Amino acid sequence: MKVFNTVQEIIQWRAQVDSSKIIGFVPTMGCLHEGHRSLIKTAREENDVVVVSIFVNPSQFAPNEDLDNYPRTLINDKAMLEELKVDALFLPTEKEMYPPNGIPLDPSKQIGTFVNVQGISSRLEGKTRPNFFRGVCTIVIKLFNIVRPNLAYFGQKDIQQFIILQKMVDDLFMTTLKLRLMPIIRGDSGLALSSRNNYLSQTSKDHASFISKGLQVAEKLLKENKTVLKADQIQTEVKSLWKKYIDDGEFKIDYISIADFKTLDEVDVFEPTAETNRKVIISTAVYVKDPENPSTIVRLIDNIIV
Ligand code: AMP
Repeated sequence: MKVFNTVQEIIQWRAQVDSSKIIGFVPTMGCLHEGHRSLIKTAREENDVVVVSIFVNPSQFAPNEDLDNYPRTLINDKAMLEELKVDALFLPTEKEMYPPNGIPLDPSKQIGTFVNVQGISSRLEGKTRPNFFRGVCTIVIKLFNIVRPNLAYFGQKDIQQFIILQKMVDDLFMTTLKLRLMPIIRGDSGLALSSRNNYLSQTSKDHASFISKGLQVAEKLLKENKTVLKADQIQTEVKSLWKKYIDDGEFKIDYISIADFKTLDEVDVFEPTAETNRKVIISTAVYVKDPENPSTIVRLIDNIIV
């Protein structure tokens, strides 16, 4: 596997790839787990050349978020990428991606070019993380322009990210690129794998597995409803499954949303299942406090598409 640390080096390498080859790209922030593995494995199956990037992108972190503590496990990551027969790893520094000096976390001090998909970026995750998708879109389009892939792979784990990036690709007429959405990989307990799970003790991870169980309750209600159902009835059922953890302060809910798959508009009323084939996303963000280390609070997200 070739490892490139500068934009110039990888652009030179990319220029020499035969134009008949199909190039697959998987952007990541590292601390690779089975979720990343599934994206890269599929990219390996579907492409002649596979490029993976590892870059913890400052512009998608707010000043109060976990940029400095974000887990970095480069030796293990490289071993996984070698095993998966990745052709090239792009591992740039902050100054490479935001020349010449890197980027401050305070958005009011940021200068240069940013890409913002208006509207859907301020829903769901965007309410709590107002500049998050602007950071994601900006880094991803920079990476697309450097790597120039035919196919790029993203996980359903970050479903809003995928929908926004697809809108960006469509709106900017990036016609040579196709985005692929891959299913969420979960642990045995049902907990969606995430690099941020590393912050939590085993006990807390066990409790956090109730996040996905809550979403399953909502899914079942939506799939089996015989009468008109309201979103708040569904949310109440999910919360009642989580009651113990909410009451003892382990779960603090940021949102439980049922939103239209395309527009991300909240859907408030559901007709009986037989009468609708509307595609919705049930999604949630929960602040999980680790009972073994109460100063550790991790915001976890999960979703189910129905
Ligand atoms: P990250 O390193 O967190 O930026 O994630 C890189 C890519 O891996 C994104 O497209 C994520 O959606 C995807 N990903 C992260 N966790 C999972 C998971 N549990 N299952 C599937 N894809 C995932």
